[in-house]
Amino acid sequence: MAQNRYDAIVIGAGMSGLAAGIRLAQFGKRVVVLEKHALWGGLNSFYKRGGRRYDTGLHALTNFVPKGTKSTPLAKLLRQLRISYDELNLHEQTWSRVCLGDITLRFANQFGLLAEDVAAAFPAEKDAFARLVDEVRTFDAFDAEAPVRSARAEIRRFLRDPLLIEALLVPICWYGSAREDDIDWDQFVILFRSLFLEGFARPAGGIKPFLDLLLARYRAEGGELRTRAGVERILFDAHSAARGVRLEDGTELESDCVLSSAGYPETMALAGRPTTEADVGRLSFVEIVHVLDRTSAALGNDATITFFTTQREFGWRRPETLVDTHTGVICCSDNYATHDPQRDGVLRITSLANYDLWCALDEAPYRAAKVAAESAILDAAAAFAFDPRPHRIASDMFTPRTLRHYTGHIGGTVYGSPHKRRDGRSGVKNLHLIGTDQGLLGIVGSMLSGVSMANRHALMETRANQLS
Ligand SMILES: Cc1cc2nc3c(=O)[nH]c(=O)nc-3n(C[C@H](O)[C@H](O)[C@H](O)COP(=O)(O)OP(=O)(O)OC[C@H]3O[C@@H](n4cnc5c(N)ncnc54)[C@H](O)[C@@H]3O)c2cc1C
Repeated sequence: MAQNRYDAIVIGAGMSGLAAGIRLAQFGKRVVVLEKHALWGGLNSFYKRGGRRYDTGLHALTNFVPKGTKSTPLAKLLRQLRISYDELNLHEQTWSRVCLGDITLRFANQFGLLAEDVAAAFPAEKDAFARLVDEVRTFDAFDAEAPVRSARAEIRRFLRDPLLIEALLVPICWYGSAREDDIDWDQFVILFRSLFLEGFARPAGGIKPFLDLLLARYRAEGGELRTRAGVERILFDAHSAARGVRLEDGTELESDCVLSSAGYPETMALAGRPTTEADVGRLSFVEIVHVLDRTSAALGNDATITFFTTQREFGWRRPETLVDTHTGVICCSDNYATHDPQRDGVLRITSLANYDLWCALDEAPYRAAKVAAESAILDAAAAFAFDPRPHRIASDMFTPRTLRHYTGHIGGTVYGSPHKRRDGRSGVKNLHLIGTDQGLLGIVGSMLSGVSMANRHALMETRANQLS
């Protein structure tokens, strides 16, 4: 095979790209993963500042199940990537909660806690909630041909109390809705299972050891990773089928199979194909991280993750101001079970943000806006956890502008386009979507997307041959 010719080219070394790469390399495919930046991991990466390593976003590895639990997304993922459960070195959450005005619902890695709190706060909804949970357990959420349905409309078939509906939507939208004020029903089902029926854990040491593990697997299978290798455009043959990519340095790589994790509108831009404004998500975030001189528990907060909204109506939409402090997620990453008594306290707070407003600012007003936004967010979040400012050792903050710069996502989106392409089809022959805009997101979700799209679009023939 010519040096620049591959069985598959993967755009992006985020979670989906790395998982797709491992899967393809495992089947003997000559595969290259191309990453625009110097580091891999995409939205879930890491960096160093002031001698300290920060995770870019890690709150939780969702879909936690105890070792040996079969037929769950995490078990399936590990099996397909031939990674052992013990290698993840997972530490479980203490417990988490949703705070909606004066209502609090706790949940943990045992589903009973949420069921108890729902029954206590909404006794009239106890049976209806149990019926909703039954539906979530049995619904086929992976039917790529099923029509898109509104989760709000579906939940209303079961629940009557608008406060309970809002309370359930808060964590679920925060961990995966690209749609304003709603979420697709199938995604609601997937996220309900991964947050409430399964649970949260954190790989020991954060995201870097997890990424090291993926990279080691990929390289052990013979996969090639090129960093600082931004794809400038997709190349086509005479029949308008993708035949490879041109990199920003002018290098051309050839393949009849290109898998892109860049996002749908971003991939179409690389292919020179038009998209509409409706294809671009409107939701972006700011996130603050504070490293503390004592643990979160010592400051009175035992919860691992707190999803809050100060209003009884949630309002999951792009704010008309730089940030929206009425809702947010507070993650105390030191509140995972660990045997390290010397650990620092770490507090992360994520808020909704307006991409256009942040990007319109010049440098000096941008810096001033960061200071003002941080202060407003910390004031709002203090009511649900604690004020980290007196205990700050170090801190950092990212905005939608940072997200755009480091991931290339138009609009600084985290959950991508509101219109997912469940079958991975891009509309261009030989060019397929993986990751966020295929419809599965989060760490486990996007990796499953990479694996399942590699299976579907690049390995069908190989696997059929192996089985026959
Ligand atoms: C602040 C924050 C916190 C989060 N916390 C969690 C969490 O706790 N738990 C969880 O499960 N999920 C979390 N997520 C979500 C999770 O990170 C994402 O859903 C997931 O990582 C998406 O992976 P992906 O592979 O689909 O896309 P991405 O991570 O976006 O990867 C795409 C990659 O493609 C590269 N790329 C783009 N264009 C090009 C190009 N032209 N050429 C080459 N490379 C290109 C990008 O640089 C990027 O590396 C969080 C996200 C954020 C932003």
